[in-house]
Amino acid sequence: MTTEEMTAEQLSGVAGPSKVRWDYHPELPIEDVPVFVWPPRPLAALKYLVSRAYLLSVVLPFGLLAAITWAYLQPALTRCVDFEIGWIAQMYIRNLGLFALFVGGLHLYLYTFKLQGRALKFNPSELRRDDQRFFAQNQVWDNILWSSASGVTLWTGYEVLFIWAYANGMLPFYLDWREHPVWFVLMLLGIPFWDSFHFYFVHRFLHWKPLYRRVHSVHHRNESTGPWSGFSMHPVEHLIYLSSVLIHTVLASHPIHIFFHMQWNAIGAGTSHSGYESLTFRGKPVIFLSPFHHQLHHRLYNCNYGNSLVPVDKWFGSDHDGTPAAWVAVREHQRSRVSAARSGS
Ligand SMILES: [Zn+2]
Ligand SMILES: [Zn+2]
Repeated sequence: MTTEEMTAEQLSGVAGPSKVRWDYHPELPIEDVPVFVWPPRPLAALKYLVSRAYLLSVVLPFGLLAAITWAYLQPALTRCVDFEIGWIAQMYIRNLGLFALFVGGLHLYLYTFKLQGRALKFNPSELRRDDQRFFAQNQVWDNILWSSASGVTLWTGYEVLFIWAYANGMLPFYLDWREHPVWFVLMLLGIPFWDSFHFYFVHRFLHWKPLYRRVHSVHHRNESTGPWSGFSMHPVEHLIYLSSVLIHTVLASHPIHIFFHMQWNAIGAGTSHSGYESLTFRGKPVIFLSPFHHQLHHRLYNCNYGNSLVPVDKWFGSDHDGTPAAWVAVREHQRSRVSAARSGS
């Protein structure tokens, strides 16, 4: 049975609303991010940009990590004029180390030592073991393999291309952020929004049947997701997914933007698939991790291709806000697609 057929079946009642269980979900409908909305809500947008969910959980931690990477963990540009194994290997090992530290650390914290228990965990089911679909019959080992061998390699590949191009003066860039302080900050704030827009379209393309079967199904084997699942993808998907960074070939950027962009896409995929909405401290949510919106995509496949930052799903009618009405709307939409496909065949 193909996934498209499976989904049609799921949506026609086999796993309909009555059978859907979550241990936790946020208040429904899922709240809109008030930035790209009509009519504009400038105050609400500003409030969101400085909120716990955005400034404290995305821009500051990933901005700090990118700044540390540039200041202390990056081979000097003068070494990067020619493609040489030394500096390239150094960048790969650094990225692998950072990925293992943050994503592996989150896995240990949430799943191995269960230091947060089940607080704010969406999915009642556990990560899969003894499942033939996964390498070594183990979801976590399978996810580690795809993330490290393919993911970190292609992430490093994109960074290497930018650093090499900067070292050779081939792209618009600057090295002193004080030259363009406003632009520097605006770009940091804007990258996740650009990614959200780009993600919708490339993700929708990845759901095109031939590409889904050969490529995107690697990611979707993760029905219940953990930190290692986020960046567990087929190499073709890594190449497509990470291509949002190519925006910096036309917009003058600082190397910190490149690291921020890539780390947000790679390590951020780990946090956004952690399976827990937030990290808590003394029972209170502190760092926002995973949107429920994407949990619905892993459960249902044919909705929520993007994320809430730029609501492209809403604009194209594929949004699922978690409410019973959305279940019905998505089911109807799916039925009409299946019957259109049948009458066309
Ligand atoms: Zn996913
Ligand atoms: Zn998908």
